[in-house]
Amino acid sequence: MRLPPREVSSDFSRRLRAWFRRRSRDLPWRRTRDPYHVLVSELMLQQTQVSRVVDYYARFLERFPTLSHVARARVGRVEEAWEGLGYYARARNLHKLARRVTDRGRDTTATLPSSPAELRALPGIGAYTAGAVASFAYEKRAPLVDTNVSRVLLRMFAPSLSPKSGAGQRAAWKLAESVLPRTGGATWTHNQALMELGALVCTARVARCSECPVTMHCASSGVKGTKQQQPEPRISRAR
Ligand code: SF4
Repeated sequence: MRLPPREVSSDFSRRLRAWFRRRSRDLPWRRTRDPYHVLVSELMLQQTQVSRVVDYYARFLERFPTLSHVARARVGRVEEAWEGLGYYARARNLHKLARRVTDRGRDTTATLPSSPAELRALPGIGAYTAGAVASFAYEKRAPLVDTNVSRVLLRMFAPSLSPKSGAGQRAAWKLAESVLPRTGGATWTHNQALMELGALVCTARVARCSECPVTMHCASSGVKGTKQQQPEPRISRAR
């Protein structure tokens, strides 16, 4: 796979960000830079639809406003607040993480680290979530790849690779890194926009190329007669 030239990746990102500013959904976790709040939203969104997460997110943060509140609670209380979202390992990992970061709740000002490497060392945080917290809370220039992002990037720049293959995943991460804009602030918008494009326009079920802001750079665009509206069998990320 060849990475796109700098002028292509710059134009791709610029168009994507402009589209996001016009068309994105107003979601509560996009209005915050609190690392703990961003983490809660990302954990909830891993297997649950956006519309359901909106309610749970607000209720959970009302009950546990900070990491130290989570750490001081019994794990059963945290699981109880998670009830209805399923995949309770996420709640248990959040509890474990909160106890580690806040010294069992004693440090009420402790917060999450900002580098993806340090974030990944914490319970329940994988490569995607580390990139999401670094980028969405700290506005770091960090790449992220989830199901939606890998689908979009591979359709765009490496259509012969499957997102389900190891080679496809490695290519998606390389592409995600190579198309990042220069600043952390722009990276926040860029990463949100990539995910939004995968959720609304270039979806697993259908590629709406005629509505896509980056169709001119896309190797799978309907304009070029390939891959448009090809269904994929399964998605693992709900948004
Ligand atoms: S042009 Fe079509 S296939 Fe390419 S990213 Fe946009 S919606 Fe997806």
